[in-house]
Amino acid sequence: MPSMHWFVSFLPVLITARGVLTQGCRVRPGDVDQDAWKQLNESTSGHLFAVVPSAQYCFNIGGCTDEQWTSSTWRSDNMPGSMLQPNWEQDYDANPPEVCLRNTTGNCKQGNVPHYVVLAESVEDIQAGVNFARTNNLRVAIKSSGHDYLGRSTAKDSLLISTHRLTDITIHDDFNGQGGAVTVGSGVRLNQIYAALKEKGKIFVGGGTATVAAAGGYIQGGGHSSLSPLLGLAADNTLQFTIVTADGQYLTANETENSDLYWALRGGGGGSWGVMVSATFRTFDTFNATYRYTVLTANSTNSSDIASLMTIHATHIHDFDEVRAGQYYWAFRNDSDQTQSLFLRTYLPRLTANESRETMQPFLTDALASGTWTVSEDTFQETVVNDIVYKEDATGAENMLMGSRLVPEEVYETPEAIGKMYEELFDTGLAIVLGHIIAGGKVSENAGIDSAVHPKWRTAKTHLITADYWTDDVVSPSGAVALSSRFQTEFLPIIEKVVGTDAGAYMNEADAYEADFATTFYGDYEKLSQVKSKYDENDLFIVQTGVGSERWDKDGMCKVA
Ligand SMILES: Cc1cc2nc3c(=O)[nH]c(=O)nc-3n(C[C@H](O)[C@H](O)[C@H](O)COP(=O)(O)OP(=O)(O)OC[C@H]3O[C@@H](n4cnc5c(N)ncnc54)[C@H](O)[C@@H]3O)c2cc1C
Repeated sequence: MPSMHWFVSFLPVLITARGVLTQGCRVRPGDVDQDAWKQLNESTSGHLFAVVPSAQYCFNIGGCTDEQWTSSTWRSDNMPGSMLQPNWEQDYDANPPEVCLRNTTGNCKQGNVPHYVVLAESVEDIQAGVNFARTNNLRVAIKSSGHDYLGRSTAKDSLLISTHRLTDITIHDDFNGQGGAVTVGSGVRLNQIYAALKEKGKIFVGGGTATVAAAGGYIQGGGHSSLSPLLGLAADNTLQFTIVTADGQYLTANETENSDLYWALRGGGGGSWGVMVSATFRTFDTFNATYRYTVLTANSTNSSDIASLMTIHATHIHDFDEVRAGQYYWAFRNDSDQTQSLFLRTYLPRLTANESRETMQPFLTDALASGTWTVSEDTFQETVVNDIVYKEDATGAENMLMGSRLVPEEVYETPEAIGKMYEELFDTGLAIVLGHIIAGGKVSENAGIDSAVHPKWRTAKTHLITADYWTDDVVSPSGAVALSSRFQTEFLPIIEKVVGTDAGAYMNEADAYEADFATTFYGDYEKLSQVKSKYDENDLFIVQTGVGSERWDKDGMCKVA
């Protein structure tokens, strides 16, 4: 890792003698004795470092290029304090706000960035970090990649345990009699797994971007893939986990050992159960597929045009069922050039490029019929699925808030309602609405699997996401605070008119301020709470909207219940 020394400004002078604890509150890192931190550094073989916000890091090294700043790979490889969306590093709510923005001139506020990180390279490093945090009553954050859309891998006044350096990959011809599998450390990126499996003629169910960590938040959230209609969710295909729990124990969780934890780790949410060391995923024989990227564009910003197009898209939603294709699509209104577009990334397993034309032609014929929409881009890649199932290096460094709902299959019986929903969402001023065909098919067929995956996944057809972006030069910290209620107050009422009030949401791509997260994100919150109290009775591992978080204030510092 280059320029490590910039965040190795270990043990700054602000560390004082151990402070008096406020009852029910955790201790701030600065109130822990300096000698104790030194001991932690020694017991982790020097893997303890001070952390700074990403903009401060860039200032310290004399500036990051725009390419570095916006690269998800560069951010997570070089800046342990970085979140893919920098808004999660800021504490906009603080009085005064604690922010650290791109092109800072230094002296940034720490905001929601942890003070120290154990950059773990072994189970022992993790155990040392967990034991230290528990003994000293510290707030803990856990991070693999920092890609979390809800900001759950960073926390104010915390000790960060990073598993980014746990990068082992082991491929098994047969894993405990359960067939082919791959065991990956919780720092391994999706693209690294796809590449390693390709060498062996195998594939696994993983997500659509290179830099998400499969054995981190992805799998604990349930994990969807463009291959899910064909093969199920990632959580449906996970055979085993290894994890360090709050008592510092290194446990194996599978169908027979710690099976309640195994149940919870498949859909119970990242950061709530312990520090995941590895996960073992089922593998399948790989195959060829066609990735088709299509863009439809209209020279209009009239929201009724997007309504018509999305009605047509909904009408044709079942065109993909037979071939079990997955699709990520997003509707985008571009006010600067007065256009609207629908981008479609379609993954057609075991189909040639020509066959993919046949599958999508009925939709395209109807979409183009009115003359409003034209195909502005249409490309095909036909190759082994490992090479096309993910997008390289997602763009980072954009402030963004999400909100989402799973869309039940039955809703597609009235496609006009879906079109109307897009129209109303665009009329609020929202410029991007994403949809994913990553449910149905095998995801529904897997309804009998006993895991913490929300049962609403099994009756859903798609996943709908609102994405609200802003830049720091346009929106002030108080403006950013105001944006945080937008999904619940403006967008959700529109969506619920169509999907109902109990559709559920995919917790990893969702609103960080979800009002009723316990039922919206989780299927059996009561059972999850029981598992939580068994493995983490004192709530060492708390994340916003995570199991048990209702007992803590928003920073996870003081108990409120
Ligand atoms: C560009 C992009 C594309 C995406 N594509 C997909 C997709 O195709 N399918 C999909 O399902 N999701 C997708 N996601 C969402 C993704 O699942 C979440 O962002 C997920 O939380 C990322 O996990 P992570 O560990 O990489 O991120 P982090 O930010 O490091 O962590 C996320 C959460 O997991 C916890 N966590 C991380 N590591 C550990 C660990 N070792 N032990 C215990 N807890 C841990 C954190 O505390 C936090 O709560 C995408 C996200 C992005 C940014």
